[in-house]
Amino acid sequence: MNPLKEEGCCTLNDFETKYIDYKNVAFLKKYSSPCGRIMPGKINGLCPRHQRLVRKALQIARMLGFVAFCSRNKR
Ligand SMILES: [Zn+2]
Repeated sequence: MNPLKEEGCCTLNDFETKYIDYKNVAFLKKYSSPCGRIMPGKINGLCPRHQRLVRKALQIARMLGFVAFCSRNKR
């Protein structure tokens, strides 16, 4: 509604919003389930914009193997 209000839109601050590092696994895990799936924005406390950024980073991290796929069959 108010495009000027950029700061404090959600739990992510402005510093983290410009670019989310897909190599930052600890950060991504905070916003994903143990299965490596991203949690809904409501649970993460993210606004839709940041939720999308996190999901994108998570997808890349998953493709590159930084974040595990659903690990139901552990060894
Ligand atoms: Zn936000």
